[in-house]
Amino acid sequence: MPKAFASSGDLSAKEETLEVLAPGVFALTSEGDPNVGAIEAEDFLVAFDCRATPLTANRWIERLRGHTDKPFRYAVFSHYHAVRTLGAPAFEAETVVAHRATAELIRERGQADFESELARMPRLFEGQETLEGLVTPDVAFADELIIPLGGERGDLHLLHLGRGHTAGDIVAWLPDSRILFAGDLVESAAALYTGDAFHLEWMGQTLDRVAALDAEILVGGRGEVVRDGAVADAIELTRRFLTGLRDEVQSAIESNGTLRDAFEAAHHRLAPEFGAWPIFEHCLPFDVQRIWDELAGARPRVWTAERDQAIWAELQD
Ligand SMILES: [Zn+2]
Repeated sequence: MPKAFASSGDLSAKEETLEVLAPGVFALTSEGDPNVGAIEAEDFLVAFDCRATPLTANRWIERLRGHTDKPFRYAVFSHYHAVRTLGAPAFEAETVVAHRATAELIRERGQADFESELARMPRLFEGQETLEGLVTPDVAFADELIIPLGGERGDLHLLHLGRGHTAGDIVAWLPDSRILFAGDLVESAAALYTGDAFHLEWMGQTLDRVAALDAEILVGGRGEVVRDGAVADAIELTRRFLTGLRDEVQSAIESNGTLRDAFEAAHHRLAPEFGAWPIFEHCLPFDVQRIWDELAGARPRVWTAERDQAIWAELQD
């Protein structure tokens, strides 16, 4: 039987879990679906990632209202992907914040990415009729943006630690409580989508900088919240996925193999360790194409719904 395209066959709802990580620090995880967070300041809230639609964002906001009724002043995008950004209107935030490269990517390829993600992961776009179109950041920064939380709450640091999952990833770091929202730079037992990635920088200096923060609690882009020793494990597993992928594709290129040869080698290498993680089969064709392109010196291609289908037919059928 042919594999269903990407995650189009995954239609069973996931259980959403709200955790209070420290006073005023909230995470919503969802069995491998994209995670979101919120940080409470003295008189406002910061949303870290915004979900795929206003309807699903509102479901998260309703859960949060059991803990705080403050308004959202900031909505922060960890990166440009539609499942992180298109729910933003639900937060009614004064200011949408992202990295400069994220702002550029939304302008350049946000619509194509939305159509690609919708076809690959239709379940995440529940409430598609509530979408209000692309959301572009009001404030875009390069390296660091600090939001003082007021009172005794310390500061929230939004940091660009280098390119990784995309050109414009940022993390949210709370130095006082040592809590890190890592976006898709780190996954917790969920497969990595790397179709827009800069693998070589990600597996090197970017993950080194993530690790150097020495977080006690880490919320990855997908999967469970990890604590203490499991933080370093999640970072290193993310790195191992990337290095395994790179090694196999590089050696396929060096032996004049085809893209399909590279895909089969990467699958053979990664499946024993990572094959049971959510979205593994979904991601791998796109991941192999991107590292293949990156090793040839190309910038990330614009993924469209049509191009996604073509690569799927070439590699996964
Ligand atoms: Zn992403």
